[in-house]
Amino acid sequence: MVNTSIKTTKSQEIFAAAQNLMPGGVSSPVRAFKSVGGQPIVFDHVKGAYIWDVDGNQYIDYVGTWGPAICGHAHPDVIAALHDALEKGTSFGAPCALENVLAEMVIAAVPSMEMVRFVNSGTEACMAVLRLMRAFTKREKVIKFEGCYHGHADMFLVKAGSGVATLGLPDSPGVPKSVTSNTLTAPYNDLEAVKALFEENPGEIAGVILEPVVGNAGFITPDAGFLEGLRELTQEHGALLVFDEVMTGFRIAYGGAQEKFGITPDLTTLGKIIGGGLPVGAYGGRRDIMSMVAPAGPMYQAGTLSGNPLAMTAGIKTLELLRKPGTYEYLDKITKQLADGLLAIAKETGHEACGGQISAMFGMFFCPGPVHNYEDAKKADTNKFGRFHRGMLERGIYLAPSQFEAGFTSFAHTEADIQQTLQAARDVMASL
Ligand SMILES: *Cc1c(COP(=O)(O)O)cnc(C)c1O
Repeated sequence: MVNTSIKTTKSQEIFAAAQNLMPGGVSSPVRAFKSVGGQPIVFDHVKGAYIWDVDGNQYIDYVGTWGPAICGHAHPDVIAALHDALEKGTSFGAPCALENVLAEMVIAAVPSMEMVRFVNSGTEACMAVLRLMRAFTKREKVIKFEGCYHGHADMFLVKAGSGVATLGLPDSPGVPKSVTSNTLTAPYNDLEAVKALFEENPGEIAGVILEPVVGNAGFITPDAGFLEGLRELTQEHGALLVFDEVMTGFRIAYGGAQEKFGITPDLTTLGKIIGGGLPVGAYGGRRDIMSMVAPAGPMYQAGTLSGNPLAMTAGIKTLELLRKPGTYEYLDKITKQLADGLLAIAKETGHEACGGQISAMFGMFFCPGPVHNYEDAKKADTNKFGRFHRGMLERGIYLAPSQFEAGFTSFAHTEADIQQTLQAARDVMASL
């Protein structure tokens, strides 16, 4: 059921025109609302916890530009710092003192990071870290998990699905088999499967990369012992453990999931929040491994705009704001109210649902659960979620346009925003 009476005339016009100009009308696929039906709204401006579309409608936002907006959109301190930085130029392509400042902050925050390299996106960070894993171990195979996303580089575009998994067949046309044949996959939370891969490929696996808390298959948490088990297995087999904390870094805790769970990987990728809304990624970890990166070492990786002063400024200001006492306690409190509230309402209104929250990251699936991996997540009722999404949008609540994406809060969200969101959810779920 798609309500076509939704008052987004200008959004519809702009999106219709966009379809002739850009594939699917968007610059990144999930923005097109394909999995929830209906049409995307076209944003005009954002501030704090809110979005305004081109038709003047206001929404409470739980996407936060897919994670970066943890201080709320267009935080006045971030904007002011950017104005000052802008006067000094947008890109140097040369060393800049701001890189040291952000590097020091990131190294101080993230337990595994002894050195860091800045890049321009999470995708770039993951591509580089993969090359580094291979360069350091002199091995070519890597293990990733079904449903985990590490950007769109060729070698990560492999999901599992029985035969596909073992053959390493690519998910997307244009990705050669030769590139993905070294990408092995296992179900998330399945240590036995990882153990088996290590045994079947002795001395060949460079490392294991994962989202320590999954956000890209919906919100899925690591079972007790899973991260510890991966840490032990990788050590036992001389392989590296890599946490892709592009989403969880500075969100699950200031020091990311590795701080939260007390497991220190060898390498970490970051993005999203550390750019404060500008394009940034980073990878880093043990000094002996990072010393392989050019020009300190032989592993080549470079970037024209990497470490540019605007992105560094937005990142520094964002982390400064996050360091204020009480930030993460507040994020946890409001996000728990939201996640618990949604599950309680689902129960009251007779819908099977499961989900949860850690810090400022949450999710809900329309299925009885529990959800331990992507196979479980796929059992969720996507049709129902589509109707829920549409209903919430009509009531001024902007949720990620897919059940397989985590939701995000910011410290700009008030308890009143959460209550308004839950009231909308009550109305929508009662009529699903
Ligand atoms: C978003 C994301 C990426 C990719 O980052 P981009 O900046 O979109 O390239 C990689 N890994 C994880 C876990 C992500 O959430």
